[in-house]
Amino acid sequence: MSVEPLLREMLIKRSQQKKKTSPLNYKRRLFVLTKSQLAYYDGTAEKKSRRGFIELSRIRCAEIVKSGGETIPCANKYPFQIVYDTNTLYVFAPSNNSRSLWVQSLKEEIKDNPTILAKFHPQFWQEGAWLCCRQVEKLAPGCAEYNPFRDVSRKPLPPLPAQEGQNGKGQALPSPPDDEDGEEEEEEDEEVVVVALYDFPGTEPHDLRLVKGNEYIILENCDVNWFKARNKYGEEGYIPSNYVAERKSGNLAQFDWYSKHVNRNKAEELLKKENKEGGFIVRDSSTAGAYTVSLYGKSATGDGEAVIKHYHIKESPGPPQQFYLSEKYLFNSIPDLIEYHKHNAAGLVARLRYPSGKKSAPSTAGFSYDKWEINPSELTFMKQLGSGHFGNVRLGKWRAQHKVAIKIIREGAMLEEDFIEEAKVMMKLSHPKLVQLYGVCSQQKPMYIVTEFMEQGSLLNFLRLRRGGFSLGSLLSFCLDVCEGMEHLEANGFIHRDLAARNCLVNDSLVVKVSDFGMARYVLDDQYTSSSGAKFPVKWSPPEVFNFSKYSSKSDVWSFGVLMWEVFTEGLMPFEQNQNHEVVTLVTTGHRLFRPKMATPATYDIMQMCWHERPEERPSFYKLCTTISDTMEGEVPPLN
Ligand code: AMP
Repeated sequence: MSVEPLLREMLIKRSQQKKKTSPLNYKRRLFVLTKSQLAYYDGTAEKKSRRGFIELSRIRCAEIVKSGGETIPCANKYPFQIVYDTNTLYVFAPSNNSRSLWVQSLKEEIKDNPTILAKFHPQFWQEGAWLCCRQVEKLAPGCAEYNPFRDVSRKPLPPLPAQEGQNGKGQALPSPPDDEDGEEEEEEDEEVVVVALYDFPGTEPHDLRLVKGNEYIILENCDVNWFKARNKYGEEGYIPSNYVAERKSGNLAQFDWYSKHVNRNKAEELLKKENKEGGFIVRDSSTAGAYTVSLYGKSATGDGEAVIKHYHIKESPGPPQQFYLSEKYLFNSIPDLIEYHKHNAAGLVARLRYPSGKKSAPSTAGFSYDKWEINPSELTFMKQLGSGHFGNVRLGKWRAQHKVAIKIIREGAMLEEDFIEEAKVMMKLSHPKLVQLYGVCSQQKPMYIVTEFMEQGSLLNFLRLRRGGFSLGSLLSFCLDVCEGMEHLEANGFIHRDLAARNCLVNDSLVVKVSDFGMARYVLDDQYTSSSGAKFPVKWSPPEVFNFSKYSSKSDVWSFGVLMWEVFTEGLMPFEQNQNHEVVTLVTTGHRLFRPKMATPATYDIMQMCWHERPEERPSFYKLCTTISDTMEGEVPPLN
């Protein structure tokens, strides 16, 4: 048996035995892959004791885990999975490169195993269900085809080092002791400390108030959106998980200068709006796993003109791996790098003086943990915002201070009972690019649906009203927002069914969010629900929908292509000259929407990818997001 290490690295593993996916169940372990087994050790390379191992012959699948936007409660944000026998081990790598290397190496070693899976689950088993397909049986068959050869992560893979230890220069490890059986032992819990990124008032007695900057201990991970926590005075209660970040080295989310969901165009808008020399934001770059510093400064020509520079944070090959903006100044971590450049421009256009970004608190998934029924007496009604399939929509306030949109459901317009059941699921869909459902008033007629208020109304109206005033960067940024929201739905196995610019909303920060997801199923109106009805969205539908009502995330992708077309025509009606039945014939015979004048060939290529006749040839939203942000980095010229 060869014990020559092929790979070894400190990774984080999720406990397989505990039911709750609490942050307490994530352990840092030294993982070592040899030709015969994958073992994990407590401690460092010098001083370690083995905690468990898996024989490679028992492994049936090694693959990345696709993130559905759920909070990963540990410092490493790149999960992969190892399915062996009937178990799944989740391991978290510190970077996309590291993860690719592990997945590819494992795939290489197990490719001849007789029990390789045909299908697997691309997302986590969490809270008693598979996030990808929502099956609640742990042993339920996989829902996606497993490719035992190709890596599905975003980056091209680095070559596999031949028989060399990746981090340990190939020295042999001591033979593992024989007295273990590969089973994981119960491990002692460690405390997980988080820091509050925003104030949270706590709306119910069972909530815990959060004060920005203070630390809290996590006691329980109740669901993906709410944690039970304790403050320094020993008070306990529920807190929204998106209001805190783990206080741990390597976790950028805990810093006020880091914003995950800000793209290049948004960063520029934000920095311009603030108009402060030294304003900066650290954001995810379009290359997964890499980061960019966007910085506002004054041009060097002395004319005092504002410039925005986007600096990629580069990584030295290592070991030790180091980070830098300027090759002369290397740091062991990104926070160290930022701290240094706060005081020294060192070649940058300015010092990093004012962190921008995390200014306003995000929406919470409901007003409190496990609360979806809203007391109508706590709502006050203000102006009318619009009207839709279900009736009028009014601006309102909840408990006299929190602005909300209230849909007043016209009697006979909705399959109310079915919706109320589904509302509990929809409330859990929480993402910065989805209009948040806060709750319902279901005990009365008319029923109310209470959602996040979006000041600028529907994307379609917004485009039409400001026609001629958009840059290419803004148009792409709108599309990317929608794509990110849709990626979250796709990852959760949730189909929109009526994606169009009219069903997206815009807020005051010009963020576009997807609205009304899944609501088409509850409309009581034949003209809308039957594909031959006058209100059926034929112009946004692929052939398999208007012919066979076959909905899927891939049919949403088709609609997304049409939405991109609406964005790049600044709100034109698709197939304006044609009636619905004519569009059916046109699309069936291979006709597609023309290239909008504002869309570059690369942007039109993205739309056309969405309009493949065969659904399986259309890209996923996951892929589309990467393609759009790549296009954006390429097409938005820096201001200087
Ligand atoms: P809907 O019933 O969702 O189709 O909404 C009808 C119209 O009401 C939309 O086109 C918007 O103009 C407005 N509206 C709906 N929801 C919101 C919201 N959350 N915030 C602001 N305006 C909204």
